[in-house]
Amino acid sequence: MAAPAFQITVLGSGTSVGVPTIGCRCAVCTSADPRDNRLRPSILVSFEGRNVLIDTTPDFRAQALRAGIDHLDAVLFTHAHADHIMGLDDVRPFNFRQKNRIPIFAAPATMAAIQRTFPYIFDGVRQESNVPQLDVRLLDGSPFDVCGLEFLPVPVLHGSATVYGFRFGAAAYLTDHSAIPLASLELLRSLDVLFLDGLRYKPHPTHTTVDQAVRIAAELQARRTYLTHICHDLGHQRAESLLPPHVRLAYDGLEIRVP
Ligand SMILES: [Zn+2]
Ligand SMILES: [Zn+2]
Ligand SMILES: [Zn+2]
Repeated sequence: MAAPAFQITVLGSGTSVGVPTIGCRCAVCTSADPRDNRLRPSILVSFEGRNVLIDTTPDFRAQALRAGIDHLDAVLFTHAHADHIMGLDDVRPFNFRQKNRIPIFAAPATMAAIQRTFPYIFDGVRQESNVPQLDVRLLDGSPFDVCGLEFLPVPVLHGSATVYGFRFGAAAYLTDHSAIPLASLELLRSLDVLFLDGLRYKPHPTHTTVDQAVRIAAELQARRTYLTHICHDLGHQRAESLLPPHVRLAYDGLEIRVP
């Protein structure tokens, strides 16, 4: 089945603490370049009037307002770290507007962690105030359909944990990884657009450096590769000037059309 054309909107390109980072006065945290303002990592995939969100960051409310999101058809979760899930309560306005349950997709361990983090959403106890109305869908590693677009979970190592990236059509979004297993690399061939973790230059136990990401990009040969989950060690303009032409830095508000 041919994938519909879609648009990817980068809602956040920053690492877990965001950029600027609280209390920091470094050149990047005080930069006037709007691309050095990075909310926590998330993208929106839009096609045929549908909006599919990957991760609900602590900045989700601000991201949805900034991008003008007026409806939400599904949420996919990469993993349950705080920077990827803590905005989940803010899907309530979509419940009010749409009067339906919003499907959320995650691996069983990720879903269990989300349910431990937000027990009041899932415990079935009637609350005096409103809570998100969600429809839980567990992923088993096979491809799954969301409103007519097929998503393929791509297992990656994030430190010692296995988390998911997602491939959809000729695009893939991998946000937190320290290693990509060979079998997963094979799922990432013939891409138009590839997102990779590009945290910083210094090695990190659970993330990928810029140099490592550039090597992965060279191996996978996507037409365009964007680094995301970026910390304040990278100023957009200078960091990008050091990259090969087919590798760019993602930035908040970036919109990419995928035919
Ligand atoms: Zn993260
Ligand atoms: Zn800083
Ligand atoms: Zn993480």
